[in-house]
Amino acid sequence: MTKKVLVTGAAGFIGSQLTAHLQRLGHQVAGCDLVSLEGVGPNAADPMLTRLRKARLAEFSTLLGIPYFQFDIGAENAFSQVLSQWQPDTVVHLAAQAGVRHSMRAPLDFVTPNLVGFARVLDACHQHQTPRLLYASSSSVYGLRSQIPFVETDRTDQPQSFYAATKQANEAMAFAYHAQYGMGSIGMRFFTVYGPWGRTDMAPFLFAQSMRRRQPIQLFGQGKLLRDFTYVADIVEAIGKLVSVQGDLAAAEIVNMGHQRPVEVNTFVEILAKHLKVEPIVEFAPMQAADVALTCASEDRLLGMIGSWRETPLALGLGEFIEWLQAWDPLDS
Ligand code: NAD
Repeated sequence: MTKKVLVTGAAGFIGSQLTAHLQRLGHQVAGCDLVSLEGVGPNAADPMLTRLRKARLAEFSTLLGIPYFQFDIGAENAFSQVLSQWQPDTVVHLAAQAGVRHSMRAPLDFVTPNLVGFARVLDACHQHQTPRLLYASSSSVYGLRSQIPFVETDRTDQPQSFYAATKQANEAMAFAYHAQYGMGSIGMRFFTVYGPWGRTDMAPFLFAQSMRRRQPIQLFGQGKLLRDFTYVADIVEAIGKLVSVQGDLAAAEIVNMGHQRPVEVNTFVEILAKHLKVEPIVEFAPMQAADVALTCASEDRLLGMIGSWRETPLALGLGEFIEWLQAWDPLDS
């Protein structure tokens, strides 16, 4: 059944590809973000990020004719007004300040988008009786754990970063709105998403750019950290299926979105180097505070909700990422 969907964070890595995917599925889609059509938005000091955002919007929103609303999710009434105007039956809320490392440097950057903004989205969906709210949470809520896989019922009350704390708070807020008002929602715990159009602050982008320039890369925790890397098209496809699931959301659900296939960062770098045909210059460094040693998603609950989802092998996904990066950012330009 066709849905009328509003995607927040639509200029972002996942949001831009999700809006396009939902439109291809035949849903009626609009996007919103703080980023202007010129690509200017949060963390604007990074010129590559501005260029990337502008290109994402051109590729996914403006070219496809998807309506786009620009506003700050933390501003009073802004989101509520867009809900009145657009009247979606589904909100996919992805807008946030992302980044574990960034939250070490500037935790207060996270307060308005992730806490105030989330509360405004939650409350507006409640006030407007929007039938379905899906929102981005993160594997980081699991904190330091050695027992795998991570199951949604595991404790999540010891975040190792302020970013993780905001995501954990979002889940608690959604739970409270269900307890108080019976409002259902789905919190999607994404596990390290990578792929084309990826974030400039994340390891694949940083590593690949340094390796292409024959510069050293720093591997924390001796490169032995394990991550359940998830290809962006797999995530986008799974969100598309969650959007299409029939029936009311009866609870404040939480679901992992990762494939239960953790890979060492050293292996990740090896594959990247193979695609780039370079010998990486590696500098090992100790594990950083805020880092967790391992992430590994149990995908049982997700499979119970959507039946099946695609799994792109890491080598294939990284190949697609490198192909995109080399075309989008030829080094000699
Ligand atoms: P992203 O940074 O590319 O996208 C987030 C978008 O939110 C950006 O376009 C940004 O401009 C927008 N935004 C930030 N502050 C805003 C504000 N005040 N008002 C309106 N818009 C604002 O990040 P992403 O990787 O696409 O992540 C999407 C969501 O998934 C985020 O909530 C993130 O925390 C979560 N997540 C991502 C990953 C990952 O590996 N990429 C993992 C776990 C969770």
